[in-house]
Amino acid sequence: MRVSVIGCGYLGAVHAACMAELGHDVVGLDVDEAKIEKLARGIAPFHEAGLPQLLEKHVGSGRLRFTTDAREIADAQIHFIGVGTPQRQGHLGADMRYVDSAIETIIEHAVTTDGPVLVSGKSTVPVGTAQRLAGRLDGSGKDLILAWNPEFLREGYAVKDTLHPDRIVYGLPEDRERGETAKAMLDECYATPLAEGTPLVVSNYPTAELVKVAANSFLATKISFINAMAELCDATGGDVTRLAEAIGYDDRIGPKFLQAGIGFGGGCLPKDIRAFMARAGELGVDQALTFLREVDTINLRRRDLAVELAENALKDRLVGKKIAVLGITFKPDTDDLRDSPALDIATRLWARGAELAVVDPAAGPELRERRPDLTVPETVDEAVAGADLVMILTPWKEFVELDPAVLIGKVGTPNIIDGRNVLDPKRWRDAGWNYYGMGRSESI
Ligand code: NAD
Repeated sequence: MRVSVIGCGYLGAVHAACMAELGHDVVGLDVDEAKIEKLARGIAPFHEAGLPQLLEKHVGSGRLRFTTDAREIADAQIHFIGVGTPQRQGHLGADMRYVDSAIETIIEHAVTTDGPVLVSGKSTVPVGTAQRLAGRLDGSGKDLILAWNPEFLREGYAVKDTLHPDRIVYGLPEDRERGETAKAMLDECYATPLAEGTPLVVSNYPTAELVKVAANSFLATKISFINAMAELCDATGGDVTRLAEAIGYDDRIGPKFLQAGIGFGGGCLPKDIRAFMARAGELGVDQALTFLREVDTINLRRRDLAVELAENALKDRLVGKKIAVLGITFKPDTDDLRDSPALDIATRLWARGAELAVVDPAAGPELRERRPDLTVPETVDEAVAGADLVMILTPWKEFVELDPAVLIGKVGTPNIIDGRNVLDPKRWRDAGWNYYGMGRSESI
């Protein structure tokens, strides 16, 4: 099929490359010239496993093109919308202007003279958006049908998640004939994953929009739940990692997303739960989601606790103290710094006078550009040299596998804060370190 992808960020660039891998003829459109310039040369503008290979393969073969010229999307049979929906400045709600602008671009340029063309929304939007946008398309004078097809990819596994998703969700128009046309086009587009047995859930617009924010709300709740238990463990001498292990054996609960630490961040979970609360308020059902306020509060409190732990470890004297921060992205295997708890904590410690050396396997170059006030060495050895405190804030594999016996010879004072509870406290203490976890007061 001929496919366009509007918005080529973390979602859109991967979606475009994966659509080419599935055999489609793809054009990716973005307003960011620097990003498109790289993509058009087959270079990934961000760190994502497997993306460089797909770009090289399909940009090289001509099946995948990137452009800032909206006229090039004209003959697509499906236009996917993957533009950002960030939190509005000073509000909880989502900023919808990029989605609205993408819709206007499609209306202006799509050619529908050979039959209906599908517009498939992938961005995460407030429930009710699809109905509103469908109204706009209906009044456009072009034969454009809207479907909502939310995206569930995880950064770090985005290529795998797009090619082999856990499930595919279609939110279709109420009109039966138009709904069937939209479904047939999406079925053709996703023929390969559907043939592999990927579960398909077909619904109306509001359900499809809600599925995405419900999934993210559930994940955020699970993380804040275990972080609340971490607070109880700290108050009572428990160990939240053992607690999580023990409750995770119950398959009604499961072990995933039960890692206590400095909390969640990134470009999705925090803004999605806030936008969901804002939308519930507009719909007059804000009581239904008041628990998400607590989820957000517990999550942000983890950052305060990490700063307090650092102050305690350094006996309340941060000025001039050297802190090595290992990991600054919001999670490993990405270079995404959006709403990163690690960056927030590092910034607060820096503001209190500590000297920071931050090392990250993927985000170093961007951090140097964005934060010239921070020291960003290339290696762990450089970062920890003479440090008064080491903090693991993002659990990149190379940090989790550090040898405490070797590292101790490089620091000034052997203090370590394990902000993600990924180290073995006994091993680190036995090697001579003062180990501080998050909710791991148990001493056995
Ligand atoms: P992003 O900021 O990385 O990318 C958005 C892109 O849209 C940018 O490159 C921007 O320049 C472009 N853009 C903005 N307005 C445009 C326009 N009018 N025309 C063309 N391009 C335009 O954001 P992202 O992380 O890719 O997220 C995009 C959407 O997908 C959001 O709604 C997000 O919630 C959702 N989502 C993201 C993920 C993820 O892991 N990143 C997962 C699932 C869903």
